[in-house]
Amino acid sequence: MELACLDLEGVLVPEIWIAFAERTGIEELRATTRDIPDYNVLMKQRLSLLDQHGLKIGDIQDVIATLEPLPGAIEFVDWLRERFQVIILSDTFYEFSQPLMRQLHWPTLFCHRLITDEAGRVVDYKLRQEDPKRASVKALHSLNYRVLAAGDSYNDTTMLSEADVGFLIHAPQNVIDEFPQFKSVATLEELKVAFLEASDRTLNP
Ligand SMILES: [Mg+2]
Repeated sequence: MELACLDLEGVLVPEIWIAFAERTGIEELRATTRDIPDYNVLMKQRLSLLDQHGLKIGDIQDVIATLEPLPGAIEFVDWLRERFQVIILSDTFYEFSQPLMRQLHWPTLFCHRLITDEAGRVVDYKLRQEDPKRASVKALHSLNYRVLAAGDSYNDTTMLSEADVGFLIHAPQNVIDEFPQFKSVATLEELKVAFLEASDRTLNP
């Protein structure tokens, strides 16, 4: 039994916060963990920026709904789901990812949750668990699944090491250099081939 686990942002869809910052013109929302390493500090800043600009969850979803998956991503997910059970393991929030997941035809997604009040103001967030990508692969192993995984950045590397086979895709050069143990591919087409080669089943390409 085999499962394919994929990261979302940078693999199938654009970086959501960065795209959102571009669409709204709120420059400070471009900050990532590279600028503010403490994730909780970063999230508090993001939530306060949303408040300052009066952005409610509905406004945010409207903006995100104008974003599109990366070229070829919709077809890739459809292709993959015909051949593997697919789970997206992401550090995004369900409420943010919804418009993009709709376009990807709702594959299974494990991520985090935003907390909103009755008026739709984003008041807090709830991370599902510590090191969620690794924990998910471990849990899937306990269900006797062999796991193939792919991601693009640092927050994927524990998932990739826990998986039976892990690939980097669309990864920046520094990540590729730091993690030579993971085969790196540049495109979703190459990832198809990599998944088929890594599979322990004979599949129709
Ligand atoms: Mg990513």
